[in-house]
Amino acid sequence: MPELVDGLDSKSSALGHVGSSPTAPTALMGTYQRFPVSFVEGKGCWLTDQKGERYLDAVAGIATCSLGHSDQALKKALSTQLGKIQHVSNLYEIGEQEELAQWLVQNSCASNVFFCNSGAEANEGAIKLARKYGRIRKGIQNPIILCAKNSFHGRTLAAISATGQPKYQEGFEPLLVGFNFFEFNDLNSFNNTFNQLKDKKNNVVAIFIEPLQGEGGIKPGEAHFFQYLRKLCNQMNILLILDEVQTGMGRTGKLWGYQQLGIEPDIFTLAKGLGGGHAIGALLSNDKGNIFKPGDHASTFGGNPFACTAGLTVAKEIDRRNLTENAMQRGKELQKGLQSLIDIFPDQLEQTRGWGLIQGLVFKEVSTITPGEVVNAALEEKLLLISAGKDVIRIVPPLIINKIEINEIISRLKATLKKLI
Ligand SMILES: *Cc1c(COP(=O)(O)O)cnc(C)c1O
Repeated sequence: MPELVDGLDSKSSALGHVGSSPTAPTALMGTYQRFPVSFVEGKGCWLTDQKGERYLDAVAGIATCSLGHSDQALKKALSTQLGKIQHVSNLYEIGEQEELAQWLVQNSCASNVFFCNSGAEANEGAIKLARKYGRIRKGIQNPIILCAKNSFHGRTLAAISATGQPKYQEGFEPLLVGFNFFEFNDLNSFNNTFNQLKDKKNNVVAIFIEPLQGEGGIKPGEAHFFQYLRKLCNQMNILLILDEVQTGMGRTGKLWGYQQLGIEPDIFTLAKGLGGGHAIGALLSNDKGNIFKPGDHASTFGGNPFACTAGLTVAKEIDRRNLTENAMQRGKELQKGLQSLIDIFPDQLEQTRGWGLIQGLVFKEVSTITPGEVVNAALEEKLLLISAGKDVIRIVPPLIINKIEINEIISRLKATLKKLI
């Protein structure tokens, strides 16, 4: 299977135009191999392309457009905000930022928030924070952060250094030092990694992990594993940092992924779903992790009035429309539908995995079709999907999706699989 771009397969031959764009030669850098389709309009869970064809969107900007496309409340709030004030520096008080931070701390285990623009940037902040925590609280000069294999934390240098997948690192060395890796959900592997540090064990400042591995293949964390990490962090007085960039803001059927695991982190990061499609990221901490002083960290655009209005509107709509509960209920229906496909194609499909509206359909190792081929073929059925890892199809529709649309995802996916098998 071809190289992955954040879960987006490079185009296989199924569509017959590997790497080429449907339009003119591009002035863009070659970072993405794109599908030969361009969307010009969206409404709810549906996107319309240049030819007027409608697609059912189970990608949602990769778990980003929580309220779907062209949401009325978002449109209204952002239009008003555009006419009021769009950007001011963090040199000045920003009411919209205060308000969104208030909502976040009132609805989570965090006590303080720093705003930035993306998931990678939020994770950069978390890594800096963990190092500083080790320095000022424990006098550690050579900090170590323990991370999971097969993880994904973004594309900046610190984020790829913390990402336990060589394919994201190769060619960009030297990476940052001070990251050691263990197998996700595997206590033995964790203890081996930890014990191999020997006298450097006391240099560990944090454990940094996704509650559910998204890009790595929709692998939910196991409660006993995370509870063990929580206990260890308490004992050692180090930070438990969760990357909730993909799982946060209601996607899993709970507001935060950590609620699925019966633990609370010291630090967690958000981005994807927070702005409903607009660029905003956040680094959240409890009192223990609230150590940044003026000058330690900053972001020019981070938390500007426009981005925070987007975040605040998403937050209010999640509350008003009970979207976390909707993610839970629709997620159950989605999982049931995917199971029905496994029953129809037992030689190809292995299992479903996930929480709420982040679900994975796992292919068998012996399968004659790849997730990449299915994603390509689904495009012809006017269904947007992405893969995760090398053997999983990821389904992350808007949180506003209804039961009829869930059934429609299943029926289009079934038609796609029938064509290929
Ligand atoms: C997408 C993602 C990131 C990176 O977010 P960007 O906004 O693309 O920088 C980091 N962590 C996780 C878990 C993600 O899913």
